[in-house]
Amino acid sequence: MKNVINPSSTKELLKQFDFRMTKSLGQNFLIDKSILDKIIEGAELTKDDSVLEIGPGMGSMTQKLCESAAKVVAVEIDKKLLPVLKVTLEEYENVTVINGDILKLNLKDTLQEHFGDRKVKVVANLPYYITTPIIMKLLEEKLNLNSITIMVQKEVGDRIKAVPGGKEYGALSVAVQYYAKPSQVLLVPPHSFIPQPEVDSIVLKLDILSKPAVEVESESLFFRVVKASFGQRRKTLLNALTAGNLGLSKEQMKEVLNSVGVEESRRGETLSLQEFANIANKLYKYF
Ligand code: SAM
Repeated sequence: MKNVINPSSTKELLKQFDFRMTKSLGQNFLIDKSILDKIIEGAELTKDDSVLEIGPGMGSMTQKLCESAAKVVAVEIDKKLLPVLKVTLEEYENVTVINGDILKLNLKDTLQEHFGDRKVKVVANLPYYITTPIIMKLLEEKLNLNSITIMVQKEVGDRIKAVPGGKEYGALSVAVQYYAKPSQVLLVPPHSFIPQPEVDSIVLKLDILSKPAVEVESESLFFRVVKASFGQRRKTLLNALTAGNLGLSKEQMKEVLNSVGVEESRRGETLSLQEFANIANKLYKYF
């Protein structure tokens, strides 16, 4: 069975397997070949690459990944898709489908088992109900990743790649940009899927940095500072940080901000990663 990626063959497969899509699992299947080609091109795969796919669905992207890379591991939660994938992937010997929940899987062990010490590229059309937890798991578990090319809701993608000063810039922008350099691959309209999602989509490539974007004494303190700064957006930075349970009085916090040259009246959404790092590293000295 070749080419899942067009409306008629997708519908044919759905009928053949009497498969009904589950909205709560984020099942919106891509049916536009030109979009798929652009995603694969954007992922910059070579024949030597090890690829992790999250949510293969009926296997349209998986087929293309198998043709473009050395080895593919695809993690799909829905048992009902396994017989479909068996048919759509039967021609490929370089793919392993794992039935499981990506959020519960021990990814470090799984990648080690299938790819050894090779760097891995993640390529996925993500289930939108868990976009952020999946991205944070991939970034925080310090896996041996080279890049993450993902389709997400446009609104989330805009937050991930936002720069200081805009309303989209927030804790998610800082968290992702601490570990990776995001860039936009393409925008994808709802009619590229069945069923059509209610939102526009965007494909981003996150190139994993060889070391985090800024140097911090304590990652957990850095992220506590970021969280507190964005916690109460209408407050000044001084008030937000003082209210953020960081254990310092307002006077002490004032001193910290002064000493790193950050105006206390600024808002969290105007601070660069380096400024957050400077504050966190100064605060570290108080503990
Ligand atoms: N890759 C296919 C495509 O592009 O047409 C399907 C993409 S669809 C947006 C998301 C897929 O992720 C679905 O197949 C869904 O069953 C699967 N999925 C949902 N939650 C998951 C989870 N926690 N772990 C692994 N896969 C999941």
